[in-house]
Amino acid sequence: MGFTGHCRCGRITLAIDAPALPPLYACHCLDCQRWSGSAFGLHLLCLGASVRVDGEPVTFVHEGAGHTSTQYACGACHTRLFNETTAAPGMRVVRAGVLEGAERFEPVAHIWTRRKQPWVVLPQGVAQWAQTPTAEEFGQVLMG
Ligand SMILES: [Zn+2]
Ligand SMILES: [Zn+2]
Repeated sequence: MGFTGHCRCGRITLAIDAPALPPLYACHCLDCQRWSGSAFGLHLLCLGASVRVDGEPVTFVHEGAGHTSTQYACGACHTRLFNETTAAPGMRVVRAGVLEGAERFEPVAHIWTRRKQPWVVLPQGVAQWAQTPTAEEFGQVLMG
């Protein structure tokens, strides 16, 4: 079983080899709002080795909060596909909206809800944090 996706123009495709959907969370921080041009970012936390990339993404490296993040995007249509960060070594964080059938996927956690746009109403009972949770708290929710 797996999940597939592609950038807007189709030059780059992704395939995630996983028995079930990896942990999905939404980040409502202002960086995610700005970067996505939308209300929040949808992040799928995948084992790096499980994400296969066909095509040649361009990269953008930036530093923040003591970590280095490398963003991978299509150089033609500029769709951001995934990133790697020293905060989560060995993982690739896929932008879930690039995947086929993303409407089936529901986040298991919401972070940075203090920046959440007021019209976004979160379901009852889903884990949420006002800002960034500790790695331990977050890991417990994401990994079940
Ligand atoms: Zn593209
Ligand atoms: Zn964010």
